[in-house]
Amino acid sequence: MNKAYKFRIYPNAEQRTMLAKTFGCVRFIYNQMLADKIKHYENTNQKLNNTPAQYKSRYEWLKEVDSLALANAQMNLQTAYGNFFRNPKVGFPKFKSKKSNHRSYTTNYVNGNISLKNGQLKLPKIGLVKCKQHRQVPDDYILKSVTVSQNPSGKYYASILFEYESQVQQIEPHSFLGLDFSMHELYVDSDGNEPNYPRYYRLSEAKLAKEQRKLSHMQKDSNNRNKQRIKVAKLHEKVSNQRKDFLHKQSRQIANAYDCVCIENLDMKAMSGALHFGKSVSDNGWGMFTTFLQYKLDEAGKKLIKVDKFFPSSQICNVCGCKNPETKDLSIRNWICAECGTRHNRDVNAAINIRNEGMRLALA
Ligand SMILES: [Zn+2]
Repeated sequence: MNKAYKFRIYPNAEQRTMLAKTFGCVRFIYNQMLADKIKHYENTNQKLNNTPAQYKSRYEWLKEVDSLALANAQMNLQTAYGNFFRNPKVGFPKFKSKKSNHRSYTTNYVNGNISLKNGQLKLPKIGLVKCKQHRQVPDDYILKSVTVSQNPSGKYYASILFEYESQVQQIEPHSFLGLDFSMHELYVDSDGNEPNYPRYYRLSEAKLAKEQRKLSHMQKDSNNRNKQRIKVAKLHEKVSNQRKDFLHKQSRQIANAYDCVCIENLDMKAMSGALHFGKSVSDNGWGMFTTFLQYKLDEAGKKLIKVDKFFPSSQICNVCGCKNPETKDLSIRNWICAECGTRHNRDVNAAINIRNEGMRLALA
C-alpha cells in the first residue's frame, strides 16, 4: 500500500533559487515537448514520442536541474497526451502558464538520492533541506517519490510517498453506516445525522468569497491587485486547512465507530458538469473526505463499500422495497410510500438504502 506524508520544508536562499529553476525547467520542458507534439500532429496526424534528453543539447541549462523531475514532467504530459488520442474531443493538453501561482515538481527515489532523517530532507541537486516533520514514518516504509511544491503565498512543501506491506488483519464487519452525498452538508447518514460544519468555517468561506469578488474588480497589474491576490491566497489556504481539518475529524469519528461504511460511487466531475452544480460540488470536499475515510478504514482492517452509481437509492422505500419514480424530482424532500405508508425524508431514506445495498455486497 502507499501512503503520502506532507511536510513543510524551509529551503535556504541558494536552495530557493535552485527550486525556482527546477519549477521553471519542468514547466519549460513540458511546454516545449507539448508544442512539438502539437506541431507534429498537425503536420502528420501522428503521435510524436519525444524525451527530455533530446532537448538537453539545445538547452544546456536543462542539465543543471534534477533529471528525474524532467522525466516526471514527460510522464505527466504523456498521460494527458494519451487522453487526447483516446478521446480527441478533450483537445490537446493545456500549456503550463508562467503566471500560475502553484509550482511543483516530482522526483523519484533512485540509489539513495533522497532521504528523510533528523529533520532534514535530502533532495537531488538541492541537498539537505530543513523539514518540519510532525509525524514519524515507520522504519519499514520504503520511500518512492517526492513532490516539492510552493503554494501561492510562498510556502514550500514536500509530499513524500512511501510504500509499505500491509499487515492489517481484516475484521469481520458487524456495524454498517450508509452515507448519502449532500451538496450543502457533505452527507446525510443512515442514522439520520449530518455533520455540522463549524461556524468559523462558514464564516471564513464567506470572507474568502467577498475578497475574491473584490480581487476580480481590481485593475490588472496594479500594486493593490497584487496585495489583494496575496490576501486571497492566504485566506484560501486558511479555508482549505480548516476544511481538511474538519474532514479529518469527521472521517476519524466514522472510521472509529463503524466496521463498514457504504457510499455511492459518484463521478463528481460529471456531476458538476451535467447538473450545473458548479463549484460547490468540488469545493465541498466529498472526494477528499472519501479518500480520508478510505485510508482510515484500510488502516483498521475495515471496509469502504462503493455502491453502483446507478443504484436507485433515492427511489426505493427502505421499508417495503417499493419504488417511487416521482422522487427523481430533486425538489421532493419528503414523501410517503404508497405501498406501506412510511413517511420518508429523502436523504435519510437514500442513506439507509445505500447502507443496505453495501451490507448486501459486503456480506455476499
Ligand atoms: Zn414502503
